[in-house]
Amino acid sequence: MERERLIIVGSGPAGLTAAIYTARAQLNPLVIAGSQIGGQIAITSEVENYPGFWSPERTPTGPELVEVMQKQAEHFGARLEYDEVVAVDFSQGTPFYVKTYGKEYLADALILTAGASPRRLGIPGEEEFIGRGVSYCGTCDGFFFRGKNIIVVGGGDSALEEGLFLTKFADSVQLVHRRDSLRAGMALQTRALANEKISFVWDSVLERIEGNGSVQSVMVRNLKSDTVQKMPIDGVFIFIGHFPNSKFLEGHVALDEHGYVITDELMRTSVSGVFAAGEIQDAIYRQIGTSVGQGVAAAMQAERWLSARGQ
Ligand code: NAP
Repeated sequence: MERERLIIVGSGPAGLTAAIYTARAQLNPLVIAGSQIGGQIAITSEVENYPGFWSPERTPTGPELVEVMQKQAEHFGARLEYDEVVAVDFSQGTPFYVKTYGKEYLADALILTAGASPRRLGIPGEEEFIGRGVSYCGTCDGFFFRGKNIIVVGGGDSALEEGLFLTKFADSVQLVHRRDSLRAGMALQTRALANEKISFVWDSVLERIEGNGSVQSVMVRNLKSDTVQKMPIDGVFIFIGHFPNSKFLEGHVALDEHGYVITDELMRTSVSGVFAAGEIQDAIYRQIGTSVGQGVAAAMQAERWLSARGQ
């Protein structure tokens, strides 16, 4: 069993920021990076709203930001382990037990930043056609839909931002939304409504995704007329929100009814010495900027907590 002073679980903006701060504070943090270094920004196309990297000539991409954050964390001494946490035990207090696929650890303090994952519709055909026409990531899969006709599900910022991005590839993007007004902010709404490739299917939900090897059609129910229509389509991109990656924490730290880790204003969880930051504990803002800020706060509190104990 390996003994660590501080383990950071997750490598999104919150985790990498906590790594930069705690490495500079000489805490020698170990980052267990999870299945995808950078978390959700690693699969985000253009990032227009994170300050400091944008210019009129060029908008940074998510992977570019991740690369800089990772380099910065490693430069100051953070160590990254490309593994995933599968179990924890906090019942004995510090040091906390952490098990990954490959190793077991004891850590004096922990910062949980495992982020969130895309929600699924839970309809027939969705699971079956993932990677064969069903996608949760325009940046990852948009390229495969050049000249094709696709559906985007959702009415929030993600659906519109990704829908707009997908018009670079697809011939048409039909945005299926369950209501007749969008949740997304005005700037994105204006751009999406003005885009000739985007059309809207209001008051409608997908009931089934069908195909033969890959997606060929969907069954769409209009909630107002209560009629079902078959729509031929090549791809379905689903952007209906996220759920926190907190399954491994159930029974070990207090979670709210949606599974988000409960933290106080000092980023403390219900277990003394265990802190959390980013989307695993934030269902409201979910921005790179707020995750970075929460990562800073968690790092500073973890450092104070350790030094108050003489660790
Ligand atoms: P969101 O704001 O929660 O929107 C989810 C959308 O999916 C809503 O329109 C919702 O419909 C719909 N939906 C939820 N469950 C559904 C279901 N089972 N079937 C059909 N439709 C369903 O999620 P998000 O768009 O991922 O955004 C999350 C957060 O990140 C927000 O705070 C957003 O502002 C932020 N964000 C910001 C940017 C940006 O600033 N550039 C980009 C992306 C995300 P209803 O509207 O009817 O509830």
